Amino acid sequence: MLKYLTVPVTPFAQNCSIVWCDQTLQAAVIDPGGDLDKIESAVRELGLKLEQIWLTHAHIDHAGGTAELAKRYGLPITGPHPGDQFWIDGLAQQSQMFGFPKAEPFTPSRWLQDGDTVQVGESVLNVRHTPGHTPGHVVFHSPEAKRAFVGDVLFSGGIGRTDFPGGNHPELISSITQRLWPMGDDTVFIPGHGSESTFGQERRSNPFVRGT
Ligand SMILES: [Zn+2]
Ligand SMILES: [Zn+2]
Repeated sequence: MLKYLTVPVTPFAQNCSIVWCDQTLQAAVIDPGGDLDKIESAVRELGLKLEQIWLTHAHIDHAGGTAELAKRYGLPITGPHPGDQFWIDGLAQQSQMFGFPKAEPFTPSRWLQDGDTVQVGESVLNVRHTPGHTPGHVVFHSPEAKRAFVGDVLFSGGIGRTDFPGGNHPELISSITQRLWPMGDDTVFIPGHGSESTFGQERRSNPFVRGT
């Protein structure tokens, strides 16, 4: 079964998630935006073997620590979708603009497409392409754990911003309704910022997507 621990990182309190297979203790880290010491000590305390980096999208608070973490442990980088190449290329500029430590660009070992799967230990997660907040945004869904790691697509009571370059509001709404809702109302999602919720709860009460 898939287990996870969310570690807020960076001044934007981005929900970096460490996910692992409880059979093998092999782990992946989703969106290591920064504060690598926090991530490393959580991995150590849990007794996990960190083997992969997975990215939902390439905004600085999600991807800023990727190159350094990959280098430190020789980890492969999986994701996001190629639509976010321009955000990866602009990481150094993003870090300057938001006052983050200088982030290096990187080349993903594997780009992700809609319908792909990723695996950590014996746990397999489905990948959905969910553009709108960024063109290359993806989410990771574990049907067995009924959990989805959705980055900045959907929040408890909110949705991702679409006023950045490449953002698209109608596209974001259709990513939510066409690609997240089918995961089921009882699926718990871990957003890029703020607290967890379920898709059912958001369909009932989120003012941006209520009743969709
Ligand atoms: Zn973002
Ligand atoms: Zn974010």
